[in-house]
Amino acid sequence: RMPEPQARPGRSRLIVLAGPTAVGKGTVAAHIRENYPEILISVSATTRAPRPGEVEGQHYYFVDEAEFDRLIADGELLEYATVHNRHRYGTPRAPIEQALADGKAVLLEIDLQGARQVRAADPSATLVFLLPPSWDELTSRLVGRGTEDEEERARRLRTARVELAAQSEFDFRIVNDSVADAARQVVDLVQASAR
Ligand code: 5GP
Repeated sequence: RMPEPQARPGRSRLIVLAGPTAVGKGTVAAHIRENYPEILISVSATTRAPRPGEVEGQHYYFVDEAEFDRLIADGELLEYATVHNRHRYGTPRAPIEQALADGKAVLLEIDLQGARQVRAADPSATLVFLLPPSWDELTSRLVGRGTEDEEERARRLRTARVELAAQSEFDFRIVNDSVADAARQVVDLVQASAR
């Protein structure tokens, strides 16, 4: 069992949720968006193409390379990274600063490189690492969702090994056995950071 989260004075209300590919970060974030509307889930910009069913402005802001360059040049991203050695992803700064100024909690669902940048920019942010129940479970989830071809799956599993090796950099680790339980644990951490 995870220990109960402690109230941590001096923590900002900025929570980073990271973890390897296919661990279910997106599903946990979607569950939080549905069930805990008081928490702002950041919408990232990306140069990757939308998957079937993904909605502009809801899952991502889909931008081209030139627009992504402009966002960087104008300082509009809190952090950004090239993920899986491929597409670029970044967190728009303005909505987060606004929400934090309003006293709202903010959750970023980003990769390890982004988590490190947020930690450097705001040492009081809370970093949460979502773990798969096992490596086998992770690979079968990736195959099961069927959204990547074999080459892309291999690429993502290489990144996953690197990310799993970095889990000790995080403040908390949560095993994603059940989406609702994992989401609840993340929300408990968000609320602990608010006191
Ligand atoms: P996907 O292409 O499957 O939606 O996302 C691939 C990876 O990009 C995931 O690990 C996700 O956490 C990461 N990611 C999504 N948005 C951002 C972002 O704004 N910044 C960073 N650094 N990583 C992101």
